[in-house]
Amino acid sequence: MALEKARILDQSDPLAAKRALFSIPHDTIYLDGNSLGVMSHAVNERVADVTRRQWGKDLITSWNKHGWIDLPITVGDRIGKLIGAAPGQVICCDSISINLFKVLCAALQIQSGRTQFVSTEDNFPTDLYMIQGVERLLGDRCSLTTVAEDDLIASITEETAAVVVTEVNFRTGRRLDLAKITAQAHDKGALVIVDLAHSAGAMPVTLDALGIDFAVGCTYKYLNAGPGAPAFVYVAKKWLSSDFAGALQPLFGWLGHAEPFAFSPQYTGASGIRQFLVGTPPIISLSAVDAALDAFEDVSMEAIREKSLQLMEFWLSCMGDHGLLTIMPCVSPTEGTIRGSQLSFAHDDAYAICQALIARGVVADFRAPNYLRFGFAPLYNTYEDVARAVARLSEIVYSGAYQDKAFQSRAAVT
Ligand SMILES: *Cc1c(COP(=O)(O)O)cnc(C)c1O
Repeated sequence: MALEKARILDQSDPLAAKRALFSIPHDTIYLDGNSLGVMSHAVNERVADVTRRQWGKDLITSWNKHGWIDLPITVGDRIGKLIGAAPGQVICCDSISINLFKVLCAALQIQSGRTQFVSTEDNFPTDLYMIQGVERLLGDRCSLTTVAEDDLIASITEETAAVVVTEVNFRTGRRLDLAKITAQAHDKGALVIVDLAHSAGAMPVTLDALGIDFAVGCTYKYLNAGPGAPAFVYVAKKWLSSDFAGALQPLFGWLGHAEPFAFSPQYTGASGIRQFLVGTPPIISLSAVDAALDAFEDVSMEAIREKSLQLMEFWLSCMGDHGLLTIMPCVSPTEGTIRGSQLSFAHDDAYAICQALIARGVVADFRAPNYLRFGFAPLYNTYEDVARAVARLSEIVYSGAYQDKAFQSRAAVT
């Protein structure tokens, strides 16, 4: 029944043709694109071309011949299109953690009289750790206050240097209201730093329109660029044309220099977003980001969001039909507009259930303390994926198959 309905929904899905762009193992239902997106054929081919032809044959001439030197900027601008950023404000480099360090320092420099970062208790740990590291480095110049998500807006005051917020909570999938947060922050003279790890590629983001000051995000989740592919950092134009431009962030690397090949002993930062580059870009994985973005070329983020919401609604209705929602309650918001592209469910044996699912070809993940998490990637997930995955989940839960010892032991990565 659910399967028939799923097939009908798949037939009228305007994004259905996109799935063929990806390499998805036979018999695998992949619901972990919020952790590591699947590989597209374009990425596979591009990496082969970069290694065999560009690096393999053209060697060092490729920096000019194949545009390697400008790739962080050209790829950054392509990412910018997906997150509402006009050209010249996004660069693709380093990891979210490193990029956070850069923008935290930039914010403190701009806000010379303020020391406080306000964030949420349940923010992704690396975001909090990076602030703690800056605190250790700078002492009194930096402090961290964490509050519950519901208290965030009220906690932004005239003392706040910047709010550091992840739009979509990695555990619960709750989506915070960036418009309200930004309005309150700017009203109090605070800056806004947003982590888009679970937003970029999953839903429309409008950084310029919201007036957000800084943003970071990764490319290996919904953007499908592959494990460890470089992240991105957004810096609003007004800060790139401010008095601080050229020295907004303190990692003075040679490739952020105005003239790297002058090899001057004195640092002079590049104007514009290039100052956020530090060292040599990882060209192979950066090329993979470029190729991965092809899948987004002719599709609107609104269409992706629309399908994401429908996939999740169908998931919840299938779980309801199987009577699963009372056994493992949904801890994500029931209202789609305040949710990212994932659903999490609480169960004491969530870890073992997740392992049993994986053993049956349904890849999801577990997040402490007891959440089973499913990510929905509208470019390649189908309604049939949903119907089949929920049927297998139901079978595992009702048969007790997850209680098998084999599903209890935890690997290093969960
Ligand atoms: C995945 C994720 C990260 C990862 O940071 P890296 O430094 O790129 O490893 C950071 N923040 C959030 C919210 C994430 O979900």
